[in-house]
Amino acid sequence: MSYRAWFQCINPQCGATYPLNSIVYQCQQCRALLEVQHDLAALSRRGAAAWMKLFEDRYKSTAWPYGSGVWGKKEWILPQIRDENIVSLYEGGTNLFWAERFGRVIGVEDLWIKLCGNTHSGSFKDLGMTVLVSQVKQMISEGAPIQAVACASTGDTSAALATYCAAAGIPSVVLLPRDKISLAQLIQPVANDALVLYLDTDFDGCMKLVQEITKDPTLYLANSMNSLRVEGQKTVGIEIVQQFDWEVPDVIIIPGGNLGNVSALGKGLLLMRDLGLIATLPRIVVAQAQRANPLYLAYQRNFETFEPVQARKTLASAIQIGNPVSFEKAVRTLRQFNGIVEQASEEELADAAALGDRTGMFNCPHTGVALAVLLKLLKAGQINKTDRVVVISTAHGLKFVEMKVKYHQRQLEFPCHHANEPVELPARLDAVKEALHKALQTKRQFRR
Ligand SMILES: *Cc1c(COP(=O)(O)O)cnc(C)c1O
Ligand SMILES: [Zn+2]
Repeated sequence: MSYRAWFQCINPQCGATYPLNSIVYQCQQCRALLEVQHDLAALSRRGAAAWMKLFEDRYKSTAWPYGSGVWGKKEWILPQIRDENIVSLYEGGTNLFWAERFGRVIGVEDLWIKLCGNTHSGSFKDLGMTVLVSQVKQMISEGAPIQAVACASTGDTSAALATYCAAAGIPSVVLLPRDKISLAQLIQPVANDALVLYLDTDFDGCMKLVQEITKDPTLYLANSMNSLRVEGQKTVGIEIVQQFDWEVPDVIIIPGGNLGNVSALGKGLLLMRDLGLIATLPRIVVAQAQRANPLYLAYQRNFETFEPVQARKTLASAIQIGNPVSFEKAVRTLRQFNGIVEQASEEELADAAALGDRTGMFNCPHTGVALAVLLKLLKAGQINKTDRVVVISTAHGLKFVEMKVKYHQRQLEFPCHHANEPVELPARLDAVKEALHKALQTKRQFRR
């Protein structure tokens, strides 16, 4: 089969193309972002039903590399990669579960959570990194003089880069903003043998520096302005539809920072539509932290102008980004998917995450932003009670326990409505019995 893909400039007036093994992150003609373009004529020679059957046969099988949620769709991702260059840790294929009790509490029946954080490095960033590192391995095998792969990060991209590079035996360099990531996120690239540069700046500051140092072609840039990442991440929407037996949900809510992931979500769904696997598109909602909300502000202005903001410190640290690289792509996606952008305050995101946890989830703060936005849009009537809604949970809550500890100790600057403090007691039967009695009488837990 001769499937092909290449980089193409997203500016319709330009449309310049570059092979996937060239070291370019932006259009050389007009500086616009690039995207991976596939040979649609070749892909559409196989019918929709045949694609669905192929993807189902491979899904979570042990036939390497096709059991991976990303590489099970290899022809749609990176058709020209040789199997021996694929660096896969069995990413994707993540849990999509019916959040029955939470849905009932907030008044939406058909609510599903896509747990993208239940994966190798604990966030959806694995989906894109397997593609990027595989392409780098192929380029090195062809003689490209790449010495290391580098990224700026709010903590999850760096963890994914470090682990995939370690698996491939390729050196990695990560630029991290000091004290703006969690302890788990700091120790991940340290443990995976990356060169960890811990800098007195924020993410946007790290991003500027990494763009400078990767002007040297021996240092390959792994940020999501490199559209290879988007190719892997676009499987999330495809996988959700596949998990619903090829039915399209009504609404998908996704937290957004640098805005690569919302663009990826849209790109996967559009490819499914173009190849006839689906006939309708869901509505896409981007959820932003109020303290890092440039997309929300632009949405208020109908996307007529874009102004970067100075992102302020937020509990949702992985989306503390004021100048999102993929802004243009995100706007294009939102226009195609009847999009909504909503924001959540610190109190709203922390309470929503905690409320979800009380129904059996273990949310990261970014998922908290998405859940808070769901609550607001339900209240505003922009999402209907009967809609099938999917919330994309972007990382595992265990990466963000500092935030949860502070919440449950009520050490945040707002009332923590769902805090549940441990009861410290002497190890005596009478004390334990008394505490038990008191707790059962004043049962704080909310009821159905
Ligand atoms: C990276 C990340 C996001 C934001 O994704 P973008 O592509 O930057 O918009 C959201 N949540 C978590 C946990 C992340 O790591
Ligand atoms: Zn161009």
